[in-house]
Amino acid sequence: MSMRAKLAGALGMLAVSLLLLAGISALTDLLNPVRVPVLMLHSVTREPEGEWSITAEKLREDITLLQAQGYEIVSLQQVIDYGEGKGNLPERPVCLTFDDGYHDNYTELLPLVEELQVPVTVFVIGCTVDSDKVNDAGQRVWLSTEELNALAASPWVTVQTHTWNLHRETTDADSGRTRTYILPLEGETEAHYRAVLTEDFQQEQALLTGSGVSELCAMAYPHGDGCSLTEEILGELGIRLTLTTDYSAGNLVYRGRADSLYNLGRMNLNNDTTAEQLLAYLQRPTQREAIWHLCLRRLGLLS
Ligand SMILES: [Zn+2]
Repeated sequence: MSMRAKLAGALGMLAVSLLLLAGISALTDLLNPVRVPVLMLHSVTREPEGEWSITAEKLREDITLLQAQGYEIVSLQQVIDYGEGKGNLPERPVCLTFDDGYHDNYTELLPLVEELQVPVTVFVIGCTVDSDKVNDAGQRVWLSTEELNALAASPWVTVQTHTWNLHRETTDADSGRTRTYILPLEGETEAHYRAVLTEDFQQEQALLTGSGVSELCAMAYPHGDGCSLTEEILGELGIRLTLTTDYSAGNLVYRGRADSLYNLGRMNLNNDTTAEQLLAYLQRPTQREAIWHLCLRRLGLLS
Protein backbone atom coordinates (compact mmCIF):
# COMPACT_ATOMS: atom_id res chain seq x y z
CA MET A 1 0.00 0.00 0.00
CA SER A 2 1.37 3.38 -0.94
CA MET A 3 2.09 6.02 1.67
CA ARG A 4 -0.67 8.15 0.17
CA ALA A 5 -3.21 5.31 0.43
CA LYS A 6 -2.18 4.67 4.08
CA LEU A 7 -2.61 8.36 4.87
CA ALA A 8 -6.01 8.44 3.15
CA GLY A 9 -7.02 5.34 5.12
CA ALA A 10 -5.93 6.88 8.42
CA LEU A 11 -7.74 10.13 7.65
CA GLY A 12 -10.83 8.16 6.75
CA MET A 13 -10.73 6.31 10.08
CA LEU A 14 -10.27 9.60 11.90
CA ALA A 15 -13.27 11.11 10.11
CA VAL A 16 -15.44 8.08 10.93
CA SER A 17 -14.33 8.20 14.60
CA LEU A 18 -15.09 11.90 14.83
CA LEU A 19 -18.52 11.39 13.26
CA LEU A 20 -19.22 8.54 15.68
CA LEU A 21 -18.14 10.67 18.63
CA ALA A 22 -20.32 13.57 17.44
CA GLY A 23 -23.21 11.12 16.99
CA ILE A 24 -22.77 9.67 20.47
CA SER A 25 -22.54 13.14 21.97
CA ALA A 26 -25.74 14.28 20.14
CA LEU A 27 -27.50 11.10 21.28
CA THR A 28 -26.37 11.63 24.88
CA ASP A 29 -27.75 15.17 24.76
CA LEU A 30 -31.08 13.83 23.51
CA LEU A 31 -31.18 11.09 26.11
CA ASN A 32 -30.17 13.40 28.94
CA PRO A 33 -32.39 16.44 28.83
CA VAL A 34 -32.08 18.94 31.65
CA ARG A 35 -35.00 19.39 34.00
CA VAL A 36 -35.65 23.14 34.20
CA PRO A 37 -38.23 24.15 36.82
CA VAL A 38 -39.52 27.69 36.38
CA LEU A 39 -41.08 29.68 39.21
CA MET A 40 -43.70 32.33 38.55
CA LEU A 41 -43.97 35.33 40.82
CA HIS A 42 -45.68 38.70 40.55
CA SER A 43 -45.59 41.46 43.15
CA VAL A 44 -42.78 41.69 45.73
CA THR A 45 -44.06 43.49 48.81
CA ARG A 46 -43.08 44.44 52.35
CA GLU A 47 -46.24 42.98 53.89
CA PRO A 48 -48.08 39.82 52.71
CA GLU A 49 -50.76 40.76 50.17
CA GLY A 50 -52.28 37.55 48.82
CA GLU A 51 -52.04 34.97 46.08
CA TRP A 52 -50.05 37.04 43.58
CA SER A 53 -47.47 38.45 45.91
CA ILE A 54 -44.52 37.48 48.04
CA THR A 55 -42.68 39.51 50.62
CA ALA A 56 -39.06 40.34 49.90
CA GLU A 57 -38.18 38.52 53.13
CA LYS A 58 -39.93 35.28 52.04
CA LEU A 59 -38.34 35.52 48.59
CA ARG A 60 -34.93 35.82 50.21
CA GLU A 61 -35.68 32.71 52.33
CA ASP A 62 -36.83 30.75 49.26
CA ILE A 63 -33.73 31.69 47.26
CA THR A 64 -31.56 30.62 50.19
CA LEU A 65 -33.49 27.34 50.38
CA LEU A 66 -33.05 26.67 46.65
CA GLN A 67 -29.33 27.28 46.89
CA ALA A 68 -28.98 25.14 50.03
CA GLN A 69 -30.67 22.29 48.13
CA GLY A 70 -28.06 22.52 45.37
CA TYR A 71 -30.16 24.47 42.86
CA GLU A 72 -28.52 27.14 40.76
CA ILE A 73 -30.66 30.04 39.61
CA VAL A 74 -30.04 30.57 35.90
CA SER A 75 -31.30 33.15 33.44
CA LEU A 76 -33.78 32.30 30.70
CA GLN A 77 -31.05 33.28 28.23
CA GLN A 78 -28.93 30.39 29.52
CA VAL A 79 -31.89 28.07 28.97
CA ILE A 80 -32.43 29.42 25.43
CA ASP A 81 -28.74 28.98 24.65
CA TYR A 82 -28.84 25.38 25.84
CA GLY A 83 -31.93 24.60 23.76
CA GLU A 84 -30.18 26.14 20.79
CA GLY A 85 -27.12 23.96 21.28
CA LYS A 86 -24.85 26.56 22.89
CA GLY A 87 -23.39 26.66 26.39
CA ASN A 88 -24.22 24.49 29.36
CA LEU A 89 -26.68 24.30 32.18
CA PRO A 90 -25.85 23.24 35.72
CA GLU A 91 -27.17 19.91 36.94
CA ARG A 92 -29.97 21.54 38.93
CA PRO A 93 -31.05 24.78 37.28
CA VAL A 94 -34.11 26.80 38.28
CA CYS A 95 -35.49 30.04 36.80
CA LEU A 96 -37.22 32.93 38.56
CA THR A 97 -39.79 34.92 36.56
CA PHE A 98 -41.92 37.90 37.60
CA ASP A 99 -45.06 38.71 35.61
CA ASP A 100 -46.90 41.93 34.80
CA GLY A 101 -44.37 44.67 35.66
CA TYR A 102 -45.21 45.94 39.14
CA HIS A 103 -43.72 49.12 40.62
CA ASP A 104 -42.49 47.02 43.55
CA ASN A 105 -40.30 44.97 41.17
CA TYR A 106 -38.25 48.16 41.10
CA THR A 107 -38.47 49.09 44.80
CA GLU A 108 -38.25 45.61 46.38
CA LEU A 109 -37.07 43.05 43.82
CA LEU A 110 -34.25 44.97 42.16
CA PRO A 111 -32.24 45.70 45.36
CA LEU A 112 -32.71 42.08 46.49
CA VAL A 113 -31.46 40.44 43.29
CA GLU A 114 -28.56 42.86 43.07
CA GLU A 115 -27.58 42.01 46.63
CA LEU A 116 -27.99 38.23 46.18
CA GLN A 117 -26.69 38.33 42.60
CA VAL A 118 -29.30 36.05 41.12
CA PRO A 119 -30.68 36.43 37.59
CA VAL A 120 -34.43 37.00 37.14
CA THR A 121 -36.74 37.84 34.25
CA VAL A 122 -39.51 40.44 34.50
CA PHE A 123 -42.35 40.12 31.97
CA VAL A 124 -43.92 43.51 31.41
CA ILE A 125 -47.45 44.32 30.16
CA GLY A 126 -46.43 47.29 28.03
CA CYS A 127 -49.63 49.35 28.22
CA THR A 128 -49.46 49.52 32.03
CA VAL A 129 -46.13 51.38 32.09
CA ASP A 130 -46.54 54.93 33.43
CA SER A 131 -50.15 54.25 34.44
CA ASP A 132 -51.07 56.41 37.45
CA LYS A 133 -53.18 53.67 39.08
CA VAL A 134 -52.61 53.49 42.84
CA ASN A 135 -53.39 50.79 45.40
CA ASP A 136 -55.31 51.16 48.68
CA ALA A 137 -52.16 52.41 50.38
CA GLY A 138 -51.85 55.17 47.76
CA GLN A 139 -48.78 53.63 46.13
CA ARG A 140 -48.33 53.34 42.39
CA VAL A 141 -49.13 49.85 41.08
CA TRP A 142 -47.18 49.77 37.83
CA LEU A 143 -43.65 50.54 36.69
CA SER A 144 -42.73 53.95 35.33
CA THR A 145 -40.50 54.34 32.28
CA GLU A 146 -37.58 55.36 34.51
CA GLU A 147 -38.04 52.27 36.68
CA LEU A 148 -38.29 50.07 33.60
CA ASN A 149 -35.04 51.58 32.31
CA ALA A 150 -33.37 50.85 35.66
CA LEU A 151 -34.55 47.22 35.64
CA ALA A 152 -33.38 46.73 32.06
CA ALA A 153 -29.98 48.23 32.94
CA SER A 154 -29.34 45.78 35.79
CA PRO A 155 -27.07 42.86 34.93
CA TRP A 156 -29.34 40.67 37.09
CA VAL A 157 -32.64 41.51 35.44
CA THR A 158 -33.83 40.58 31.97
CA VAL A 159 -36.96 42.37 30.81
CA GLN A 160 -39.20 40.48 28.38
CA THR A 161 -42.75 40.59 27.04
CA HIS A 162 -46.10 39.77 28.61
CA THR A 163 -47.75 41.45 25.54
CA TRP A 164 -48.51 45.13 25.10
CA ASN A 165 -52.26 44.98 25.59
CA LEU A 166 -53.43 41.38 25.32
CA HIS A 167 -53.38 40.61 29.02
CA ARG A 168 -57.07 41.51 29.35
CA GLU A 169 -60.10 40.86 27.21
CA THR A 170 -60.01 43.27 24.27
CA THR A 171 -62.54 44.24 21.60
CA ASP A 172 -61.41 43.35 18.10
CA ALA A 173 -61.48 46.55 16.02
CA ASP A 174 -62.72 44.82 12.85
CA SER A 175 -65.39 42.45 14.14
CA GLY A 176 -66.31 44.05 17.46
CA ARG A 177 -65.93 40.64 19.07
CA THR A 178 -64.24 40.04 22.41
CA ARG A 179 -60.80 38.47 22.33
CA THR A 180 -59.68 36.40 25.32
CA TYR A 181 -56.14 37.51 26.04
CA ILE A 182 -53.73 36.45 23.29
CA LEU A 183 -55.91 33.68 21.84
CA PRO A 184 -57.40 33.75 18.33
CA LEU A 185 -61.12 34.50 17.93
CA GLU A 186 -63.29 31.60 16.83
CA GLY A 187 -63.16 31.43 13.04
CA GLU A 188 -60.60 34.27 12.80
CA THR A 189 -58.44 34.05 9.68
CA GLU A 190 -54.78 33.31 10.21
CA ALA A 191 -53.84 36.51 8.40
CA HIS A 192 -56.03 38.63 10.69
CA TYR A 193 -54.70 36.97 13.85
CA ARG A 194 -51.14 37.37 12.61
CA ALA A 195 -51.75 41.10 12.01
CA VAL A 196 -53.19 41.57 15.54
CA LEU A 197 -50.31 39.77 17.23
CA THR A 198 -47.71 41.52 15.11
CA GLU A 199 -49.10 44.98 15.87
CA ASP A 200 -49.22 44.25 19.61
CA PHE A 201 -45.70 42.82 19.49
CA GLN A 202 -44.30 45.81 17.66
CA GLN A 203 -45.74 48.23 20.24
CA GLU A 204 -44.17 46.18 23.03
CA GLN A 205 -40.91 45.97 21.13
CA ALA A 206 -40.77 49.76 20.67
CA LEU A 207 -41.33 50.28 24.41
CA LEU A 208 -38.84 47.68 25.64
CA THR A 209 -36.04 48.43 23.17
CA GLY A 210 -36.54 52.12 24.01
CA SER A 211 -35.79 51.12 27.63
CA GLY A 212 -32.58 49.37 26.65
CA VAL A 213 -33.77 45.80 26.12
CA SER A 214 -31.65 44.38 23.31
CA GLU A 215 -34.20 41.92 21.90
CA LEU A 216 -37.54 40.32 22.64
CA CYS A 217 -36.89 36.59 22.79
CA ALA A 218 -39.20 35.26 25.54
CA MET A 219 -42.89 35.62 26.30
CA ALA A 220 -44.95 34.68 29.33
CA TYR A 221 -48.40 34.02 27.86
CA PRO A 222 -50.99 36.26 29.52
CA HIS A 223 -52.86 34.02 31.99
CA GLY A 224 -50.75 31.17 30.62
CA ASP A 225 -52.81 30.66 27.45
CA GLY A 226 -51.48 30.29 23.93
CA CYS A 227 -52.06 27.86 21.07
CA SER A 228 -49.91 26.33 18.33
CA LEU A 229 -50.69 29.20 15.95
CA THR A 230 -49.75 31.76 18.62
CA GLU A 231 -46.46 29.93 19.00
CA GLU A 232 -45.83 29.83 15.25
CA ILE A 233 -46.47 33.56 14.78
CA LEU A 234 -44.41 34.52 17.84
CA GLY A 235 -41.60 32.31 16.55
CA GLU A 236 -41.61 34.27 13.29
CA LEU A 237 -41.42 37.49 15.33
CA GLY A 238 -38.32 36.24 17.16
CA ILE A 239 -39.75 34.70 20.35
CA ARG A 240 -37.74 31.57 21.14
CA LEU A 241 -39.10 30.64 24.58
CA THR A 242 -42.66 30.72 25.88
CA LEU A 243 -44.06 30.16 29.37
CA THR A 244 -47.43 28.95 30.55
CA THR A 245 -48.94 28.73 34.04
CA ASP A 246 -49.32 24.95 33.94
CA TYR A 247 -47.34 23.27 36.69
CA SER A 248 -48.75 19.77 36.36
CA ALA A 249 -45.51 18.43 34.88
CA GLY A 250 -41.85 19.35 34.96
CA ASN A 251 -40.01 20.91 32.01
CA LEU A 252 -37.36 19.11 29.99
CA VAL A 253 -34.99 21.10 27.81
CA TYR A 254 -32.83 19.25 25.27
CA ARG A 255 -29.54 20.62 24.02
CA GLY A 256 -29.91 21.66 20.39
CA ARG A 257 -33.69 21.12 20.39
CA ALA A 258 -35.08 24.64 20.16
CA ASP A 259 -38.64 23.26 20.09
CA SER A 260 -38.19 22.11 23.71
CA LEU A 261 -38.15 25.81 24.71
CA TYR A 262 -41.86 26.33 24.01
CA ASN A 263 -44.69 26.06 26.54
CA LEU A 264 -42.54 25.60 29.61
CA GLY A 265 -44.73 25.26 32.67
CA ARG A 266 -44.36 27.26 35.89
CA MET A 267 -45.34 27.03 39.53
CA ASN A 268 -46.81 30.06 41.29
CA LEU A 269 -44.53 30.93 44.21
CA ASN A 270 -46.16 33.21 46.76
CA ASN A 271 -46.06 34.01 50.43
CA ASP A 272 -48.05 30.91 51.36
CA THR A 273 -45.94 28.41 49.39
CA THR A 274 -44.27 26.09 51.87
CA ALA A 275 -40.74 24.74 51.55
CA GLU A 276 -42.24 21.26 51.03
CA GLN A 277 -44.44 22.46 48.15
CA LEU A 278 -41.52 24.25 46.52
CA LEU A 279 -39.20 21.25 46.76
CA ALA A 280 -41.95 18.89 45.54
CA TYR A 281 -42.38 21.05 42.41
CA LEU A 282 -38.65 21.07 41.73
CA GLN A 283 -38.65 17.28 41.76
CA ARG A 284 -41.96 16.90 39.90
CA PRO A 285 -41.85 14.13 37.32
CA THR A 286 -42.07 15.22 33.71
CA GLN A 287 -45.01 14.15 31.57
CA ARG A 288 -42.89 11.41 30.01
CA GLU A 289 -41.79 10.12 33.42
CA ALA A 290 -45.37 10.24 34.66
CA ILE A 291 -46.55 8.14 31.68
CA TRP A 292 -43.68 5.72 32.25
CA HIS A 293 -44.58 5.37 35.94
CA LEU A 294 -48.22 4.78 35.00
CA CYS A 295 -47.22 1.99 32.57
CA LEU A 296 -45.02 0.36 35.22
CA ARG A 297 -47.86 0.59 37.74
CA ARG A 298 -50.33 -0.97 35.29
CA LEU A 299 -47.88 -3.81 34.74
CA GLY A 300 -47.68 -4.24 38.49
CA LEU A 301 -43.98 -3.41 38.52
CA LEU A 302 -44.42 -0.29 40.62
CA SER A 303 -46.64 0.13 43.64
ZN1 LIG B 1 -49.89 38.32 34.01
